[in-house]
Amino acid sequence: MGVERTFSLIKPDATKRGITGLINADIEGAGLRIVAQKRILMTRAQAETFYAVHKERPFYGSLVDYMTSGPVVAQVLEGENAVLRYREVMGATNPESALEGTIRKKFAVSVTENSVHGSDSPENAATEIRQFFSENEIVG
Ligand code: GDP
Repeated sequence: MGVERTFSLIKPDATKRGITGLINADIEGAGLRIVAQKRILMTRAQAETFYAVHKERPFYGSLVDYMTSGPVVAQVLEGENAVLRYREVMGATNPESALEGTIRKKFAVSVTENSVHGSDSPENAATEIRQFFSENEIVG
C-alpha cells in the first residue's frame, strides 16, 4: 500500500450550502492531506468526460445537469492507502446506506446530491487527477 493519492470533488450541493470547510475538516481529521485544491464551475464537456463510465445509465443526464449546476471543489488527497481510506470517510453512494460519521451520512441530500466524489481505484485516481490538475499544481 504506502502513501498514495486520490481525487476528490466536493459537489454542488455542498458548495451551495457553504460546507466545504466542514468536509475538509473531516478529510484532514481522517489523516488525509489536501495537496491540491481549486473551486471551479465544470463545463458540460468536463462533466460528461468525468462520468463517461455512466453514459448508458438512466441517471446520466441528470447527473451531468447536477454536476454543472454550481461550483465544485476539485482536490488531490494524499495519505496512507488514500483511495480506500477516502471511500471509507465518504460512506456509501446512497446516504441512506452510509455508516454513521461518514461525510455522506452527515451531509448528503440524496443518492445524486451526495456531497462528495472519491476515486474508486488508484488507476482511476491518476486519470481523474490528470483531468483537473497539472503536476506543478500538486504540492505535498
Ligand atoms: P460513487 O463512486 O459512490 O460516487 O458512485 P458511482 O460511481 O456509482 O456513481 C457516480 C455518481 O452518480 C454518484 O455519486 C451519484 O451522484 C450518482 N448516482 C449513482 N447511482 C445513482 C442512482 O441510482 N440514481 C441517481 N439518480 N444518481 C446516482
